[in-house]
Amino acid sequence: ATPTSIMVGTGRAAQMGVLLRKGEALQQLKDAKVVAVDKTGTLTKGRPELTDLVLAAGFGRGQVLALVAAVEDRSEHPIARAIVDAAKAEGLQIPVISDFESVTGFGVRAEVDGDGIKYRVEIGADRFMRKLGLNVDDFAAESGRLGDEGKTPLYAAINGQLAAMIAVADPIKDTTKPAIEALHALGLKVVMITGDNRRTGEAIARLLGIDEVVAEVLPGGKVDAVQRLKQEHGMLAYVGDGINDAPALAEADVGIAIGTGTDIAIEAADVVLMSGDLSGVPNAIALSKATMKNIG
Ligand code: ADP
Ligand code: MG
Repeated sequence: ATPTSIMVGTGRAAQMGVLLRKGEALQQLKDAKVVAVDKTGTLTKGRPELTDLVLAAGFGRGQVLALVAAVEDRSEHPIARAIVDAAKAEGLQIPVISDFESVTGFGVRAEVDGDGIKYRVEIGADRFMRKLGLNVDDFAAESGRLGDEGKTPLYAAINGQLAAMIAVADPIKDTTKPAIEALHALGLKVVMITGDNRRTGEAIARLLGIDEVVAEVLPGGKVDAVQRLKQEHGMLAYVGDGINDAPALAEADVGIAIGTGTDIAIEAADVVLMSGDLSGVPNAIALSKATMKNIG
């Protein structure tokens, strides 16, 4: 393509809310074979809500929710806000905490001061509980059922005892499914890469018609998945919004950040979707094909 055609294409892209940070992106997108996407905040709204709280014997709802919300109040994960909002909606007092720690990809923990009594509270994925030596089998059937509904099952431990299973659900953006259908119509494969539970990821992928799911990915694992998918399928575009997406955005042939996402993701990307949703991806690929064909 000539410099003029690239300029025209870049202008067209901007009109569609697709910001091209690197000129090559417009040339490369037409050859993309696979689009890998992050789940939370990219396919979904990134605003989960608490839907279920199943207690273990001997624990009370108000007590567990207040202790867990106290810890989550320090976390920046979207899951955290869901839990804090639920506790506040139930009128619970959020206790004071100390020794907060975020175990990336697993969950969070802290000491919580509940009326002068100290509690050790841990909350996170089933793998976090297993790491702590706790058995989550009693909740396995229930968590599988919730996962199949597209909800994310989490576990809370208090003083080293499994206290509850908590589920959160993050609604899918209205624009996601049509965008995936448009990508399929352009002949691309769509793969979801997520740190979330496998059953949850697969349920959401089924709803959206996504071709492949890489789930329960630990921090750093997104880059490995991108490398493998590039070898398997060829030229790859990666779409994400979070801090933990930055390495995958850099590793992809074309990194595409959601404009409403974190600055770190935007800086790592070649393309930014100002609309804040996935629909810009098929639009940009179609534009790339048109630009390169007409003036090639
Ligand atoms: P993702 O961005 O796909 O959610 P993360 O690595 O941030 O990936 O998180 C992976 C999993 O770790 C989450 O699905 C959740 O089960 C658990 N987790 C992470 N942070 C928290 C938190 N603040 N509270 C509870 N669970 C958490
Ligand atoms: Mg995300």
